[in-house]
Amino acid sequence: MKKITIAIDGYSSTGKSTVAKQLADYLGYLYVDSGAMYRAVTFYAMQNDIISKGYFNVEKLIESLPLINLKFVKNDDWNKAHIYLNGNDIEKKIRNLEVSEFVSPIATIHEVRVKLVAQQQQMGFEKGVVMDGRDIGTVVFPKAELKIFMNASAQERAQRRYKELLERGEAINFNDVLKNIEERDHIDTTRQDSPLVKATDAIEIDNSEMNLEDQFHTVLQLAKDRIAGRV
Ligand code: C5P
Repeated sequence: MKKITIAIDGYSSTGKSTVAKQLADYLGYLYVDSGAMYRAVTFYAMQNDIISKGYFNVEKLIESLPLINLKFVKNDDWNKAHIYLNGNDIEKKIRNLEVSEFVSPIATIHEVRVKLVAQQQQMGFEKGVVMDGRDIGTVVFPKAELKIFMNASAQERAQRRYKELLERGEAINFNDVLKNIEERDHIDTTRQDSPLVKATDAIEIDNSEMNLEDQFHTVLQLAKDRIAGRV
């Protein structure tokens, strides 16, 4: 069967990774969480005195890029691949609010994007990939056969993220989560290099009022139509 490339972009906490993972599992495709790569670089920067509150040493970050090795590793016991930074599994360390606070400034740096985009394009070289992020349909795979752009109200997204963080045992308050989402939206949509925009040929899905099942079936149908060459 023909394999296609599926790009899922959108605002923070719109559930991109959930639907991307469901789709990849169903189709037997590779799933790549590109946000995890930006988070991993951020984690490295936090650990190496490159970024902290009110401080960002861009030069040191750029110099350090050759020392940052990222890899996705799969294991039958995990429901998704974990991201490894220089040989260490950091999957559980990159989802907290602290990393979320620094990741968007890190993602504005051109050299960071060049490095990560090259690795992402390599991973999707043979098609049969579902990748989610902010610039997948516009920059990483501009020729993707299916592009989805996901959206939901900031309140709804913050509620979802807040619940997720609480379930993980983080001590956080709702307003901090909402503020972080709004700040990331602002930085991601206004940065110079590869800002978050809907590709002209992307299909927009607002899932504020949609349940996960309906959302999955909508996206799956779009994928099946493209695989069968109906669109
Ligand atoms: O998807 P996630 O929320 O984990 O992404 C974290 C951050 O990484 C985003 O807010 C954005 O700043 C950056 N990012 C990006 N380009 C991508 C994926 C993520 O700039 N393709």
